[in-house]
Amino acid sequence: MNMKYDSIFAPLDLGFTSLPNRIVMGSMHTGLEERRGGMKSLASFYEQRAKEGVGLIVTGGVAPNIAGWLGPFGITLNRRAKVPKHRIVTEAVHRQGGKICMQILHAGRYGFHPFVVAPSAIKSPISKFRPFRMPGWYVKKTIRDFGRAARLAKEAGYDGVEIMGSEGYLINQFIVRHTNRREDEWGGSYANRMRFPMEVVKEVRRQVGEEFIVIYRISLIDLVPDGSTWEEVVLLAKELEKCGVTMFNSGIGWHESRVPTIASMVPQGAFVGLSARLKKQVKVPVIASNRMNDPDFVAQVLEDGQADVVSMARPFLADPAFVSKTKQGQIHNINPCIACNQSCLDRIFRRQVVGCLVNPLTGTEMWDIPKAVRAPLKIAVVGGGPAGLSFAVTAAQRGHQVSLFERAPSVGGQFLLASAIPGKDTYQKSIDYFENRLKALGVGVECNTSLTPERAKEEGFERIVLATGVKPRIPDFPGVDAPHVLDYITAIRHPERIGLRVAIIGAGGIGYDVAELLTHPGGDTPTSLRSFFRFWGIDPEVQMSGGLVEPIHPPAGTLRQVYLLQRSKGKPGAKLGKTTGWIHRLTLRKRGVKTLTGVVYHRITPEGLEYSQEEEKHFLPVDSIIICAGQLPETSLFATLEPTGIPIYIIGGAKDASGLDAERAIRQGFRLAMEMD
Ligand code: NAP
Ligand code: SF4
Repeated sequence: MNMKYDSIFAPLDLGFTSLPNRIVMGSMHTGLEERRGGMKSLASFYEQRAKEGVGLIVTGGVAPNIAGWLGPFGITLNRRAKVPKHRIVTEAVHRQGGKICMQILHAGRYGFHPFVVAPSAIKSPISKFRPFRMPGWYVKKTIRDFGRAARLAKEAGYDGVEIMGSEGYLINQFIVRHTNRREDEWGGSYANRMRFPMEVVKEVRRQVGEEFIVIYRISLIDLVPDGSTWEEVVLLAKELEKCGVTMFNSGIGWHESRVPTIASMVPQGAFVGLSARLKKQVKVPVIASNRMNDPDFVAQVLEDGQADVVSMARPFLADPAFVSKTKQGQIHNINPCIACNQSCLDRIFRRQVVGCLVNPLTGTEMWDIPKAVRAPLKIAVVGGGPAGLSFAVTAAQRGHQVSLFERAPSVGGQFLLASAIPGKDTYQKSIDYFENRLKALGVGVECNTSLTPERAKEEGFERIVLATGVKPRIPDFPGVDAPHVLDYITAIRHPERIGLRVAIIGAGGIGYDVAELLTHPGGDTPTSLRSFFRFWGIDPEVQMSGGLVEPIHPPAGTLRQVYLLQRSKGKPGAKLGKTTGWIHRLTLRKRGVKTLTGVVYHRITPEGLEYSQEEEKHFLPVDSIIICAGQLPETSLFATLEPTGIPIYIIGGAKDASGLDAERAIRQGFRLAMEMD
């Protein structure tokens, strides 16, 4: 074991039981829960993580009754008949010596179905259903339902439960005035508003006895108006401790909050300070959470005593062996989560099964095992972007003899470009991971090199995989070849060539990324914690209710003036991810970026851009124009290499550049490598 990570691997004594280490796999809905036969897949998914040594797993939220569903027919534990299917999960985890708690989550007004209930009949901005106000008798019944769910969880073999008291779900809705306007014993004074969580915890404890883990996820900062103050958070924690909580987990921000809390631009461990402050106020262990994926950072948080345990969810999708690799000091072999949300949370919101952009094996690791090949082939991979890297790693892992050729000075392709955008520096870690894997697997990598037909023949390659990616699409209108017009690749590599007034043609993911880079107050340097808090109006002391203060934005005229244009009339950036698009749109608005839609481009002059909107002609005086108008496949090498007669396979953007998609590229590379014999 690597001593540097001793703080992670110190067991945690909970009195009646102990955790083998300080890492919790945090709750995350997988979408498997509601599928036919999904609990078996879920069992395999958790079993794999338990096998790799995670100290404790917390399941995705399970409703204690139908009104508590997140969506129609969401997973519910309200009858003994449902216990056996949960047992499949608990037995799988226990087989590997792991521990697992079931999260009890009542969605309250966040439910997306017609039976939603809440303390008051106030509609949430993220569900179209107005909730029914819970009558007093029904509040008491709901408390009993929480207790019943916990008791059934114990019968199903869970080691404990986590009561979801944060992120704006039902319990949180009772606590704050933002959603609780009642005047009976469940509303009004703070003492009345915290009665619901206290009664829930007491009832749960009553039904499960003393020797059962009860985690309470407490909202440390609501990030909504009329949320709790720090004084109220501490008061609640102290009362809940008396009611029988074993550990507190940290909840950060309501889902309806317009402040990012886990996306890639949130600095590593941004909210750990709040967990540290709670830890000073309570005797039971405190779990820190949100936006941590770096084992060194996690070890430091634990060593500094800022928390007793650290919870991570997405990093376990990217790499199920996060814990075991850390234990062995194999940090460089951890596949890092890049916090993109693209294949996990965005999919969950579309009611699909969770995946991971950087790990095509997520959820299928137990049976999708790369098999050794009987007759290794000599394979040339041309292009070291996500598709080529993914193919090369899996093919080499299966025993093929792989060489990779990259025309640029280093591998990474579109990931390398992305890593230059502020807040996306983790993309470089992903490239580092692939490079380390290639090295360990003995894949020869030649940069600044394009494979020639002569060399392909000389070296006796038996297969060629063309993963040469994409080239920017350059629209055809007068002036696009002027020196002040740059494609996005040049713009990202050389922001110093760009003037103070900029028009970006194309408001897709890359247009937004370029606008982010050009208006970032610190140029391409990462955001500091202080400036992150100021920009989003976060009070890390939570002195004001909800922890919100007036945000401080860069004064007008201090940043580049950027215009983001698109031809279509719809919402700009409409294709950005569901869980991150709003952050990009809001960030640019705060920085004074102007979006123009329904634009017809006419021509570029040395002074700017001529265009029309609704048949009216306009002129935009700008110094630089950047083309972010999508991509075309880069397959020029195909014609050069085809005469060799060596079979050629095309993958990634070179195969299909429409909606250039890193997840698709990585999956294609992986699948081809799994099938190539
Ligand atoms: P994109 O999302 O398809 O956007 C291309 C933009 O160019 C659109 O705004 C399109 O809008 C415009 N356009 C297309 N053809 C044009 C033409 N001939 N002339 C002028 N404008 C034209 O492509 P992208 O921005 O290159 O991004 C590629 C992929 O990368 C996306 O699918 C996304 O998944 C991913 N990505 C996402 C993010 C993120 O979510 N933050 C960041 C980077 C990349 P009009 O046709 O309306 O003008
Ligand atoms: Fe992390 Fe993206 Fe994978 Fe989600 S999809 S786990 S955010 S890398």
